[in-house]
Amino acid sequence: MTNQELQARKTQVIARGQGNLYPVYIERGENAELWDVDGNRYIDFATGIAVCNTGHSHPKVVAAVKQQLDKFSHTCVMVNPYESAIELAEKLTQAAPGNSEKKAIFVTTGAEAVENCVKIARAHTGRRGVIAFNGGFHGRTNLAMALTGKITPYKNLFGPFPGDIFHAPFPIESHGISIEESLRALDTLFKVDIASTDVAAIIVEPVQGEGGFYPAPAEFLRALRERCDEHGIVLIADEIQTGFGRTGKMFSFEHADVEPDLITMAKGIAGGFPIAAVVGKSQIMDAPLPGGLGGTYGGSPVACTAALSVLEIIDQENLIARANQLGQLFNERLTLLQNQFPEVIHDVRNQGAMIALELGKSATQFIPNPELTQSLIAKAAEHGLILLACGFYGNVIRFLPALTMTDAIANEGLDKFERLFSQLSS
Ligand code: PMP
Repeated sequence: MTNQELQARKTQVIARGQGNLYPVYIERGENAELWDVDGNRYIDFATGIAVCNTGHSHPKVVAAVKQQLDKFSHTCVMVNPYESAIELAEKLTQAAPGNSEKKAIFVTTGAEAVENCVKIARAHTGRRGVIAFNGGFHGRTNLAMALTGKITPYKNLFGPFPGDIFHAPFPIESHGISIEESLRALDTLFKVDIASTDVAAIIVEPVQGEGGFYPAPAEFLRALRERCDEHGIVLIADEIQTGFGRTGKMFSFEHADVEPDLITMAKGIAGGFPIAAVVGKSQIMDAPLPGGLGGTYGGSPVACTAALSVLEIIDQENLIARANQLGQLFNERLTLLQNQFPEVIHDVRNQGAMIALELGKSATQFIPNPELTQSLIAKAAEHGLILLACGFYGNVIRFLPALTMTDAIANEGLDKFERLFSQLSS
């Protein structure tokens, strides 16, 4: 079967809501490279949306998973648990930022981790309100979608939304939103829409992911911590895209030296196996009653085993330091490209290996360029690249290389990107 034939079959049987960015059907992946059913090779700058931080099919993850499958595949951690789940909870509570005593729960996807944070925060505080930020992304399930701060394509057609969800502006200096303005809006929210004493939680991504790879300034995260402490609000860090070494720290909140109360973990946790977690301060995590949290597949033994081996690889292969090296390599090369095309490259930025190229239409003012962004994505596969876009304005190319990517592959991929960019921009 060819890519074309498979895409024709797909559109017949999979609803358009679950779209695919590329009509490229993968046959094989190895570290940072992919091969499709037509025999084409790609350099992967997407890692399945920040999931395969340890590359595709890392031999150690594959071996650990095979070994687990020979023993058993599922018992449900809420019926008959197993040591790998305990060991993973021990390691994650240890790895989470801050010194407070922590506990974990396991679920299956990022959105589910977000939903559970809200349940836990509400149970702990006995309050109803949750505040999220404009441009934030927290998932596609009902409550997570309501927290997401962007209508198209995530929310239109899907109302009514759950109540008691509020949004405040996220500080992005280049979009004209200062930290002060964002904090003032939060304080106004407490005056206009919901009393601070009714707010259970504030949820924030330390670097907005789908929203455009905008890092939350450290000063802003510290100010959120202060407000949460002042008003008895639970601070939730959504580290689903930023976690597991991606930003050059194990978790991005470490850059600001802030300890959140609850942390969502998913994506990079297990090299592609569906597992997610909430890790947080024990006295908050223990608020729900036994049986109030969890699910059939949460903490699957296969995924727990994969996650344990991912943690080992991050440590043994120094992937946190590698994220910073890769970030620097990408930033330097993309900055050279910016010097060549100052009128369309508005900004190059990175936090570790979460790297963004923001496209505009003027060298002197911020005018988003979603059209150029879309044409780069549309042509990427023809150039042997898997690339993703993001951004509140749809004008950001995001680079999420595997942290195990070699310099040679990174440079080859960037050569391809430069050729593609020059073709479309001159
Ligand atoms: N939060 C953030 C910050 C994310 O980046 C994502 C996924 N892009 C989610 C939540 C939702 O995760 P999932 O798709 O696994 O439900």
